[in-house]
Amino acid sequence: MTKADKDYYAILGVDEKADDAAIKKAYRGLAKQYHPDANPGNPRAAERFKEVGEANGVLSDPQKRKKYDQMRKLGAFGFGGPRAGSRPETTAQPGFSFEDLGGLGGFSEIFSSIFDRGRKGQPSRPSGPLRGDHVELPVEVPFMTAAKGGKVSVSVSINEECATCLGSGGAPGTTWKNCAECKGSGSVSFGQGGFAVNRPCPACMGRSERPAKECGACGGSGKVHQKRKIQVSVPVGVQSGAKVRLTGQGERGRKGGAPGDLIITFKVEPHRFFEREGADIHVTVPVNLAQATLGSRIRVGTIWGKRVVLRVPAGTQPGTRFRIAGQGISRDGKTGDQYVEIKVEIPESLTEEQEARIREFATAAEMKW
Ligand SMILES: [Zn+2]
Ligand SMILES: [Zn+2]
Repeated sequence: MTKADKDYYAILGVDEKADDAAIKKAYRGLAKQYHPDANPGNPRAAERFKEVGEANGVLSDPQKRKKYDQMRKLGAFGFGGPRAGSRPETTAQPGFSFEDLGGLGGFSEIFSSIFDRGRKGQPSRPSGPLRGDHVELPVEVPFMTAAKGGKVSVSVSINEECATCLGSGGAPGTTWKNCAECKGSGSVSFGQGGFAVNRPCPACMGRSERPAKECGACGGSGKVHQKRKIQVSVPVGVQSGAKVRLTGQGERGRKGGAPGDLIITFKVEPHRFFEREGADIHVTVPVNLAQATLGSRIRVGTIWGKRVVLRVPAGTQPGTRFRIAGQGISRDGKTGDQYVEIKVEIPESLTEEQEARIREFATAAEMKW
């Protein structure tokens, strides 16, 4: 196992800019998760536990981390899988000396990897752990669930490493040869003029090599599609566009790398009756001409299932709003209200008798005026 190839940030599942507190937190969580006591007889967990400790050992030490970061900048690692191909390849940088890396045990191997690359003029095949990709997923939430909080069940399609070929894409026992498409470099460049972008080679998927016989289980992609059902907690009062990040629920990492995250964007479905504005609820209730003119009592439902009796006074104008206190959404220790807007419905057709009465009303009104 070459330490030089490990992406310690990916192992801890933290960003390159993560501060000490974030690293500490990530380490604690993972160490607990993979602790041998919690995973008796599980060699994979034991291996992960070791890696997590190793990553923390470097990243929690400012000196070691600095040196490690310098190594990363040099492009000595095949980090990020396909993404690595989009970075300009770096060989050596001025101002960087061997002494800079003293005391960082196990890192001497990095040099051979840099020099190998320099000699062959091609990046080495990524062999270290690669963190899985993040997966973005929009999730529709029923209006009431968003208002009151709850859970929604989502089905997410995730690429998992193929168990048959362990992600290599080759049939077990097959021989490998350099990819003809990218001449074994793992990347191809697109673009024209002075501007070219390196992309992972589509033929070998950035692996530099192709198997003589592809894995039958995954068709040579090294990945299999898996549907995963996940229960997502919906925070009380969540609004459309709000996101939650489920750490480690994204694509599986490769070669022991940490999994990516699942990033969920909520979209609140509309309700046929209720509307929301922050913590307040709005409804529109129709009343007829007589109710608005003479006054009446109407029943109004709330999101909490209550039926509130509202007194509509005589002479209520269209668009008048009434407030039902405390029947909105509870957020941050405060509860919103429900607003009821009165819509006066004008009859579209009248019976003969009704029409006669309205005409009487009109005559009476004119006389008064
Ligand atoms: Zn496979
Ligand atoms: Zn290729």
